[in-house]
Amino acid sequence: MQQLSGKEVAVVGGGPAGLLAAQRLAEAGCRVHLYEAQATVGRKFLVAGHGGFNLSNAEDATLFAGRYAHRAPDFRRFLAHFSPTDLRAWATDLGISTFVGTSGRVFPQAHHKPADLLRAWVARLQALGVVLQVRHRWLGFGPNGALHLRHEATGEQTTVRPAATLLALGGASWAKTGSDGAWLPELERAGVPVRHFAAANCGAEVAWSEFFREKVGRQPLKNVALSCAGATVRGEIMLTDYGLEGTPVYALTPQVRAQLAIGGPALLHLHLKPDLSPAQLLDKLARRKPGKSVASFLGEALRLGPPVPTLLRELGPATFPAAPSEAAALLANLPIPVTSLRPLDEAISTAGGVAWEALNEHLMLHARPGTFVAGEMLDWEAPTGGYLLQGCFSTGAWAARGLLQWLEMS
Ligand SMILES: Cc1cc2nc3c(=O)[nH]c(=O)nc-3n(C[C@H](O)[C@H](O)[C@H](O)COP(=O)(O)OP(=O)(O)OC[C@H]3O[C@@H](n4cnc5c(N)ncnc54)[C@H](O)[C@@H]3O)c2cc1C
Repeated sequence: MQQLSGKEVAVVGGGPAGLLAAQRLAEAGCRVHLYEAQATVGRKFLVAGHGGFNLSNAEDATLFAGRYAHRAPDFRRFLAHFSPTDLRAWATDLGISTFVGTSGRVFPQAHHKPADLLRAWVARLQALGVVLQVRHRWLGFGPNGALHLRHEATGEQTTVRPAATLLALGGASWAKTGSDGAWLPELERAGVPVRHFAAANCGAEVAWSEFFREKVGRQPLKNVALSCAGATVRGEIMLTDYGLEGTPVYALTPQVRAQLAIGGPALLHLHLKPDLSPAQLLDKLARRKPGKSVASFLGEALRLGPPVPTLLRELGPATFPAAPSEAAALLANLPIPVTSLRPLDEAISTAGGVAWEALNEHLMLHARPGTFVAGEMLDWEAPTGGYLLQGCFSTGAWAARGLLQWLEMS
């Protein structure tokens, strides 16, 4: 047993939540040991970097907190403690300037690569004295706050006893980055209430006909609106040979999941011309001349070129309705039956993990006083758009604050 002395604390998990927590704890004077199972830290953070690297969002605080749905009241607190403005200042302090895109999303300036940010961050942690112990997998708890660890290269097992611990072990998608969710049964065994993982921000599967798959393959539908169970999201979707991808599909994952849970399929409704008012759409459809083919009429009058006619034939009635009102209803409300969500490992994020009833307001486990939890391993979900990373940063900072207060009191 290695007794870590005084203010020696352990952070387990080297994703954005754990790294930020380690930084805050080290800045407050703790001697931090960061244990990471992989050979390097921040692997999923780098994966996020390949897809645009959307760090946060510049939208108003109330709207922002609302992105975390029923956890909004908690996230209001976390975001007030480490806000999107704080995140941008943090990046600037590491030499990485950011900008707000037209959609309100916050990105690093184009000349800063994700690896530049991670490299600067790791250098800062080392300068603060954080001891980065990579290839160290947390296996479970021992008595009196002890942590069992295994060196992934040598297989050697050790036990350490820090003054306090912060777990930031991530969700359960993209297992190759280290976020394999294998910690969940271990916490369950330790008496911590958990929720099983579910895919969030992922594609949806549709049982297309063979004809559709071959003809359409992979094609975008731009500027559409997608609805499910009363929620509507605008944007671009991608038709693929297995179903649908794209921001509106990802954002509706909670609604689709809920419908599938009560016995699928779940129904998405597609509006192909959301910029037109119902009257405008009707007016355009009323101008259709007899004899004009559906495909050329849709292309010319409504700029609905391929693959829309094929999609309408696949999901709509056998013949395009002659009555303008029926045609308008079809274009504004095309039902798409979803048979399932894409596999967990492909998802951008996961719902499930440590249940909120397991935690006090400082994100400390009731079952393990002195052990705090942050990041995606907590049971929350949010859409893409910078809300995921910001949520991890903010919970990391909040849990670090709780840990510091706990150390002062103990
Ligand atoms: C393709 C993709 C694109 C994304 N793009 C964006 C984006 O643009 N914007 C955005 O906001 N979010 C994005 N995300 C989501 C974001 O990357 C995650 O929400 C975030 O990385 C989660 O941070 P975390 O620190 O909670 O966990 P993780 O980043 O998953 O880190 C957890 C760490 O814990 C380690 N670990 C796990 N178990 C153990 C153990 N037993 N012992 C020791 N270490 C362990 C893992 O190896 C891992 O390094 C994207 C995700 C994906 C997959």
